[in-house]
Amino acid sequence: MLGEDLAYESGRILGSMCTKPHRFAAHVYGKYIEKNLGDPGLFPATQQIERETIQMLGTLLGKSDVAGHIVTGGTEANILAIWAARNLSKTKQDEIIVPASAHHSFDKAADLLGCKLVRIDLNDNFQVDISAIREAISPRTFAIVGIAGTTELGIVDPITELAEIAEQHNIHLHVDAAFGGFVIPFLEKAEKEKLEFDFRLSGVSSITMDPHKMGMCPIPAGGIFFRSEGMASAISTNFTYLCGGETTHQTIVGTRSGAASLATWAMLKHQGRSGYQKIVKRCMELTYQLVAGIEEIKGLEVVIPPTMNVVGIKSDILDIDVLAQKVREMKWAVALFPKHIRVVVMPHVKAPHIHGFLEDLRHITETIRR
Ligand code: PLP
Repeated sequence: MLGEDLAYESGRILGSMCTKPHRFAAHVYGKYIEKNLGDPGLFPATQQIERETIQMLGTLLGKSDVAGHIVTGGTEANILAIWAARNLSKTKQDEIIVPASAHHSFDKAADLLGCKLVRIDLNDNFQVDISAIREAISPRTFAIVGIAGTTELGIVDPITELAEIAEQHNIHLHVDAAFGGFVIPFLEKAEKEKLEFDFRLSGVSSITMDPHKMGMCPIPAGGIFFRSEGMASAISTNFTYLCGGETTHQTIVGTRSGAASLATWAMLKHQGRSGYQKIVKRCMELTYQLVAGIEEIKGLEVVIPPTMNVVGIKSDILDIDVLAQKVREMKWAVALFPKHIRVVVMPHVKAPHIHGFLEDLRHITETIRR
């Protein structure tokens, strides 16, 4: 019955930020499927492992004593961050400033919380325009969002400058590193030093970083990290009726997967930094092969040299919708944005897939041009 589903192993899924989970992580997940962190009093050991997972990832993000949870995904994590920022803000503050490139989860957050999103244009590097951010701040602003790995192009906003602005105005800065959080720390030293984005910047209040994207953990595994327990407790709900006794939730969902935390913990221990460095290195090498191949095809170019394993393909002479349609007809599952096609070189993508894709792209562009 599932025959029509695409499989990551086919290499045809070229536009997704998800991938086949690592075998070991999937095994751990399956083994502990019944663990429910919605009733942590019943599963105190699993809760402790979740704390350790948050601590390990917090250390990677520059602060071991962060608060946070493994949640359903980047969307829930972003909503939780904005929810906490709203609760911590002064009355009458109801505006969130986001880059034009912000993920649609911020639209959901704003709608749910009855807040207004103020969208800021991007500069020529597809980063948020810092001077426009300064101008947009008003007494109603309670949060600014910066992105470390945009959905459309994998671009990192100038988070250092955003952090300074946030501190100056005493506003919550949330960094959406849902994708980039598992990439940037594992890039070559020179590359990652240019991309400061985490709690080492004192103006950063919260971060989203998803194990179920480049962390190769099973869905559902998003990560929300707050600088302090005080911030996380702004969204605490306390109650007592569950079998496990006194309970505090800091998530949207009630019943929630403990297996996700266990699988993430196991995967982090299994890979270590060097394991993730290898994964990211391979993805980046293939990304550069893809970029070189695109530059050789007449009529196509990359939108911007990639920062991470996300590549935008555009054309000045071909209609991008037509190009995407033809590419999809040839059974390549790519993502389509208004002006470009997005390829994400995830761990399931191998060299023959990239070469096959480039061959088809060349053929398609030649046919359309004729
Ligand atoms: N933030 C960014 C930057 C993303 O690219 C995505 C998804 O691609 C999300 C958040 C949402 O993540 P999820 O689909 O896990 O809810």
